[in-house]
Amino acid sequence: MNASAATRPLSFIDLLAQRHRLGARIDEAVMNVINSGAFVMGPQVRAFEQQMAAFGEAAHCVSCANGTDALALPLMAWGVGAGDAVFCPSFTFAATAEVPPWTGASPVFVDVKADTYCMDADRLDAAIREVKAAGKLTPKVVIAVDLFGQPADYPAIAKVARAHGLKLIADSAQGFGCTLDGKHPMHWADCVTTSFFPAKPLGCYGDGGAVLTNDAGLAELMDSLRVHGKATAADIAATKFEHDPKYMAMRIGMNSRLDTVQAAILIEKLNVFADEIAWRNRIAKRYNDGLRDVVDAVPTVIDGGVSVWAQYTIEVQGRDELAAHLKAHGVPTACYYPIPLHRQVPYRDYPVGGNGLPVTDAKADVVISLPMHADLSEADQDRVIDAIRAWRR
Ligand SMILES: *Cc1c(COP(=O)(O)O)cnc(C)c1O
Repeated sequence: MNASAATRPLSFIDLLAQRHRLGARIDEAVMNVINSGAFVMGPQVRAFEQQMAAFGEAAHCVSCANGTDALALPLMAWGVGAGDAVFCPSFTFAATAEVPPWTGASPVFVDVKADTYCMDADRLDAAIREVKAAGKLTPKVVIAVDLFGQPADYPAIAKVARAHGLKLIADSAQGFGCTLDGKHPMHWADCVTTSFFPAKPLGCYGDGGAVLTNDAGLAELMDSLRVHGKATAADIAATKFEHDPKYMAMRIGMNSRLDTVQAAILIEKLNVFADEIAWRNRIAKRYNDGLRDVVDAVPTVIDGGVSVWAQYTIEVQGRDELAAHLKAHGVPTACYYPIPLHRQVPYRDYPVGGNGLPVTDAKADVVISLPMHADLSEADQDRVIDAIRAWRR
């Protein structure tokens, strides 16, 4: 290795390496859409939805404009609104907690487990009981997050949600493709949402999102909501229209469609996604082996779980010094999430359930994420590992 290769800045997530690997397939997919003229809801959208549903082991997939709208669609379809409580972690990206207030509902923050950073089912149960006892909000929905790519503890979380009569959303924006005991989150959740933001494990070349569900009625309602509340087949069967039902609005919806160009790109990306998940797992194992003895914690994946490794996140005391040291060696890092949502201004007045958020608060100070993407070479990964080992000495 020459000197410039040893100091060349690495990418945190190298999107162009994948783009070059996919090559002409992407060019053709994009040009096919452009030359077809079917720019909105073209045939690639339906084709991609079917492939997504099959991959995530769901009966239905409703694609939409981004992973935030994907969370809004089921809440709207279920009629969640003012006075309702939606339980979610604080140790997550803002979108998870941002959507309940759109409907008038309140997020209720629940602590995470110290090893996996995913929702703690016991804390969830305590939080739901507290909210019920206080009598101000009505518990309606749980949003579990597949943080950093690994499945939340769905058997335990679904059991609590069911016992209290709550709906369960798996926010799998970071975790789409993850499994637990060989099953996708759809096995336990009422719906699974994901984001195709470019840096997510299954990303497109812009914004996009999707909701997976086994509930045909919910899928039909979300299909209506994403296109301004258009009439569904059930609406048309039940109503005598005096005009073409195409322009009849049956409910307040929104405009949240997956772009046809993005669907065409995603079809090509989904074709290689299973291989990429395997590569990401190989890379994560190499990091574990190279770092286990020098950092406070390498990632813990739940027993029986397979992560898609949206992030590879370690714990160290002196996180900021490590970040500066790595930066000087051309190694970018990121900190997810330095300030949990319940301590940020727009969210600080919403309730915290189940004895506070001690794990969330403690983890925010020690986590640091390292370069992770399917095309990370062993040589580049060794630079990251060697630089961390040198800092420790
Ligand atoms: C990225 C992300 C979202 C939102 O996705 P967008 O496509 O950016 O709207 C939601 N939840 C989590 C946990 C995310 O990481």
